[in-house]
Amino acid sequence: MEQTGDTKQPCETLDDETLFMVSQTFKALSDTTRIRILHLLSQKECSVNEIADELSLLQSTVSHQLRFLKNLRLVKFRRAGTTLYYSHDDQHVMDLLSQAIHHACHD
Ligand SMILES: [Zn+2]
Repeated sequence: MEQTGDTKQPCETLDDETLFMVSQTFKALSDTTRIRILHLLSQKECSVNEIADELSLLQSTVSHQLRFLKNLRLVKFRRAGTTLYYSHDDQHVMDLLSQAIHHACHD
């Protein structure tokens, strides 16, 4: 998985841009629908229809959340004919999500 940001200097000091990005990252993970979508995309690539079917969501809801996640470069898509297939695009954030799920499930 290609990573963005690894070519930058390590974030030794929290400048305003870094603080903003960190808060955006947690904002992305602060919505139950986005969590479900990212968790599904951690397992497989999906079209909007497949996400809507698997998670029992409206397509408009899925599209809205995918735009949000795409803007933060947490998901990407490839086009096959008229269908867009979405996948996750940042292993750091998927690791954060996995850690949070494990945290929620342990004793
Ligand atoms: Zn824990």
